[in-house]
Amino acid sequence: MAEDYTDYERDFFVAVDRNTMAEQAIFDALANIADDQYYTLFEVEIEHVCGPAHVQVFPERAGTLYRCMNCGMAGIIGG
Ligand SMILES: [Zn+2]
Repeated sequence: MAEDYTDYERDFFVAVDRNTMAEQAIFDALANIADDQYYTLFEVEIEHVCGPAHVQVFPERAGTLYRCMNCGMAGIIGG
């Protein structure tokens, strides 16, 4: 990361990095799911931004809806 970021900017980019890594972990956990797991709600265990956590996922063909059972963050990962 460049040296000329302010703390304000660095904090922002670190948060985005952490969230991106967490979303990648969710994506990786879904890499080998069976066809019949699409459009069903289930849980995976990953390293979320809040730490090790159970995360509910609802994979659709166009993306994955998720909610962390530890910190409550929810969102959609684009497919
Ligand atoms: Zn979390």
